Amino acid sequence: MKNRNRIKKALPAVCAAGALLLIAAFLLIGSACGLFDSALPPYDRSLPGVFFIDVGQGDAILLSSPDGGYMMIDTGSERAADALTETLDRLGVTELKYLLLTHPDEDHVGGACALFDRLTVGEVLCGTEKSDAPCWKSVLIGAKEKDLPVRTVRSGDRIDFSDRMTLEVLAPIGEIGQRNDNDRSVVVRASYGNCSFLFTGDAEKEEEDALCVRYGKTLESSVLKAGHHGSSTSSGEGFLSLVRPSVAVISCGKDNAFGHPHEEVLRRLGEAGAEQILRTDVSSTVILQTDGERVFPAETPGVTPFDRIVDRIRNLFLDVL
Ligand SMILES: [Zn+2]
Repeated sequence: MKNRNRIKKALPAVCAAGALLLIAAFLLIGSACGLFDSALPPYDRSLPGVFFIDVGQGDAILLSSPDGGYMMIDTGSERAADALTETLDRLGVTELKYLLLTHPDEDHVGGACALFDRLTVGEVLCGTEKSDAPCWKSVLIGAKEKDLPVRTVRSGDRIDFSDRMTLEVLAPIGEIGQRNDNDRSVVVRASYGNCSFLFTGDAEKEEEDALCVRYGKTLESSVLKAGHHGSSTSSGEGFLSLVRPSVAVISCGKDNAFGHPHEEVLRRLGEAGAEQILRTDVSSTVILQTDGERVFPAETPGVTPFDRIVDRIRNLFLDVL
């Protein structure tokens, strides 16, 4: 009787220890099988992918072409370099055909040297090589050490990224932006079928106005990467009325010191017809794909990270059977 009581008393502790052991085994086996490598949703590699990588306050955008090539637009800050290289590792990116640096600000070029160390980079593209910013000097030194060609691009150039995607350079334009580096941002548009993505770096009013004058209604694009992290000094009404994006993406840090994105920008984007405003400070890395007719998030609607883990477990069992 005494023994039975003792067993009864010990039972909860034994069960708890057993449960802990099971959880530990699940976590150990799960991580060994890559079960939890699901921070990024699966994406269709046969279609173009645009990854707005979460680097906190900054821009780092990866373009993946349907023929398997990659290029990046900006690299985020040096502080975010580990997060950036981890994401690229997880995606299996080892080579960039191009690294396009929109302008010499640290939150756009600070991670470039880390990329030079980790990846094969074909060519560095920029709007100007002239800048006294220490971070920019480091980029030029880093590129020289790796023997990487650095090329200046401007309005009217084309970037030979993929046979199936066109990439046109819309800015810098003429002498615009002599007083403000942001307004000499390289602005590029990637097109696939009837869909296009407009990347504006940190372009502000002067450069947006110049784009409106030069390109008018042909600025219309399916997706706009809102300029300067959603600052009210960018995404002006006149510019948005010509771009008319159905999706806008804002790349900014959670609780950033600048208050980005500014309320008026969110309002202006909505008024210009943006049905979706996606933010890296809210959703972390944002992945968009296009089949040439429509743009859609790589995330399957309604599928949570937990669903993906369950799916992975089921597939593992199916593989074993
Ligand atoms: Zn910036």
